[in-house]
Amino acid sequence: PFDVLVVGGGPAGSSAAIYAARKGIRTGIVAERFGGQVLDTLSIENFISVPKTEGPKLAANLEEHVKDYDVDIMNLQTAKRLEKKDLFELTLENDAVLKAKTVILSTGARWRNVGVPGEQELKNKGVAYCPHCDGPLFEGKDVAVIGGGNSGIEAAIDLAGIVKHVTVLEFAPELKADNVLQDRLFSLENVTVITNAQTTEITGTDHVTGISYKDRQTNEEHHVPLQGVFVQIGLVPNTEWLDASVEKNRIGEIIVDKHGATSVPGLFAAGDCTDSAYNQIIISMGSGATASLGAFDYLIRH
Ligand code: FAD
Repeated sequence: PFDVLVVGGGPAGSSAAIYAARKGIRTGIVAERFGGQVLDTLSIENFISVPKTEGPKLAANLEEHVKDYDVDIMNLQTAKRLEKKDLFELTLENDAVLKAKTVILSTGARWRNVGVPGEQELKNKGVAYCPHCDGPLFEGKDVAVIGGGNSGIEAAIDLAGIVKHVTVLEFAPELKADNVLQDRLFSLENVTVITNAQTTEITGTDHVTGISYKDRQTNEEHHVPLQGVFVQIGLVPNTEWLDASVEKNRIGEIIVDKHGATSVPGLFAAGDCTDSAYNQIIISMGSGATASLGAFDYLIRH
């Protein structure tokens, strides 16, 4: 069996695997797609000590670094079930079963898409999901934020300090964000809030030129010319495949303690699939290291 079996090959999983392998213990990593969300990212400018890199390059660096160590890499493999018997038993989509003394879950998350024409086609060409990452690319431009919950309004406040103008589109009749955030938002001069707005299309060919929405009260169609659209309607953790034995919060994130330990002894988790406060590459790598050291501590006590 593996001493440490990591599920997920993004920044969190790569970091966890390297930390485990450096202890000289038997380490494996299973990944549906090695690199994770980083593969979908164009420019990365907040991975401290690397002023500027690109997603596919960072993903290749992650894999290369893992390969420097004695880690059994199982890429293009999807885990579908995890059970705890004497050992953990991880079943893959192809029904192979991997056994391990400890498991680190690092299956990440995915942004919820609005699913309108133009969204997929214009990803990284004006359609963005992460204001901390991509906000500065829109300096002095006009952007929209889709979603009036806490993350949407936080994004709008953040962006208003960088871009020329922010239009917030909320589907419901009122914003869902906390009042303090709404007060802050409404104090800003370069923000317009449109409620009852159903986004129907993101327009543009090689870059975003605008957004179309339908006023749900009047059924009128509107178009706002702008250069960027931030989709902020939720980040979904990739944890649906886990059964109820591991404790999750209301939105499906795995609850971990400061050692990266979950509610199941010997089961650890790291990165965007957990209830961490913020989801960033540097944070995922840190929590991957934490979970790995947590697993090592567990192993030497059991
Ligand atoms: P992920 O990167 O999501 O990796 C999850 C891994 O688990 C993948 O290998 C996946 O294939 C695998 N997996 C999932 N389910 C299974 C399964 N059932 N079985 C096996 N494997 C599975 N952060 C920054 O710090 N700076 C940026 O500039 C930045 N830009 C971003 C731009 C975009 C478009 C996106 C989407 C995100 C961006 N982020 C950025 C956020 C950052 O990418 C994430 O916080 C980070 O990748 C999370 O790492 P992770 O390892 O927890 O999860």
